[in-house]
Amino acid sequence: MNEPSRDELWAWDSQHVWHPFTPHSVYKDESPLMVVAAEGHELIDVDGRRYLDAVSSLWCNAFGHRRPEIDAAIRAQLDRVAHSTFLGNASAPAVSLAKRLVDLAPDPLTRVFYSDNGSTAVEIALKMAWQYWQQTPGGEKRQTFIKMGNAYHGDTIGAVSVGGIDIFHARYGGLLFDTVQAPSPSAYRHEGYATRAEAEEAAVQAFEQLISAHGADLAAVVVEPGVQGAAGMLTQPEGFLRRIREATTRAGSLLILDEVAVGFGRSGETMFACEALGVEPDFLCLAKALTGGYLPMSATLTTERVFEAFLGAPELGRTFFHGHTYTGNALAAAAAHATLDIFADENVLAGLPKKTAYLRDKLAGLERHPAVGDIRQFGLCAGVELVSDRRTKTPYPAAQRRGMKVCLAAGRRGVFLRPLGDVIVMMPPLSLSEAEYDRLFDALHGALDDEMSDAQP
Ligand SMILES: *Cc1c(COP(=O)(O)O)cnc(C)c1O
Repeated sequence: MNEPSRDELWAWDSQHVWHPFTPHSVYKDESPLMVVAAEGHELIDVDGRRYLDAVSSLWCNAFGHRRPEIDAAIRAQLDRVAHSTFLGNASAPAVSLAKRLVDLAPDPLTRVFYSDNGSTAVEIALKMAWQYWQQTPGGEKRQTFIKMGNAYHGDTIGAVSVGGIDIFHARYGGLLFDTVQAPSPSAYRHEGYATRAEAEEAAVQAFEQLISAHGADLAAVVVEPGVQGAAGMLTQPEGFLRRIREATTRAGSLLILDEVAVGFGRSGETMFACEALGVEPDFLCLAKALTGGYLPMSATLTTERVFEAFLGAPELGRTFFHGHTYTGNALAAAAAHATLDIFADENVLAGLPKKTAYLRDKLAGLERHPAVGDIRQFGLCAGVELVSDRRTKTPYPAAQRRGMKVCLAAGRRGVFLRPLGDVIVMMPPLSLSEAEYDRLFDALHGALDDEMSDAQP
């Protein structure tokens, strides 16, 4: 096929493509990028314009685009084999990657089950937890899942069932299985409470009580540790995750941690957020940055105790009946190995606290802006919530699409951002330099001046 022209690409995009999470009535008015190349932390569009990739290509790109080490690892794997089935069989790079992930993860996690994306990584944890109890004497009654308000775990039906964001999830209500929803402990608006801290403490206590009330019928609790990303970077009070782990342990239930977004250094401290937060889960779901943002691969890690409940003669039917065509893909595993090599060779984790502090300083520079209601940061991810009135915390009318407008204005200044409603999200590659942080925030200040000059001081 000949290289298509710019005009052909845009015509075919309008005629034939359906984009994810995209209202097509406004899609073309909101300056979408037609990316043709990238270099380091920049995306290059079909017109040759360059954009700093400040959301890591939707939270997955760890060390920039066209990283020579990752490129080379994939090319080398291509000379061996691109893919062979993992169903009832093995292939070398995914096996050695499992060993590596287990060595990095908290001690009780000894088994790795691969799939292709974050949603399936969570879906698999749910199915495993369910089946684990069905195959554990005395566990048959444990069929309840507790999820968090504002949760996001992906878009397949099981993952949506444990989601709690109305605008994404309510439409599918009739398709979902029943769950119990605990409150999200992030209370910028703290309605009915004098302070945010009081509201958050009340939410954590209500969560603990719900876990103990469901005690004997509870299969598992599903949590995004550290921050609820897709909900708008909702951070959690100190000690929250430890208290939920303690409550699940007392209730004898399993804890599923979805680190699809916050795994691989995003916490700004440790490889996995659960380590920084002092918790060992029963399931750890990993995806996004696992391959450095190169290829779709995810992993659901669990314990030997869970794995053993699936043993027995084949005719007993205790097998985990789940698997995808591309499970354990060799090219993706090679990219993941190269990504983990970069973490080790460059001692990446040791450099993250300094970057986290730099991001914190940069965010502080936005505090006084009259349109900025709340600034939330967890390690190397942050959300800046725009409000029409800082005192009453009143949101802008959704039809004004303020968050999108600010991001588009940043785009005109050469920085690519994608908002969550009126929350401006920053999820830069871990390798972003201080000079590039400056570029990002200069563009954001300019974008706020362009689009938010009517904000009441
Ligand atoms: C992105 C995300 C998912 C879904 O991952 P996909 O690869 O998009 O299916 C699940 N959980 C969290 C916390 C996420 O951020």
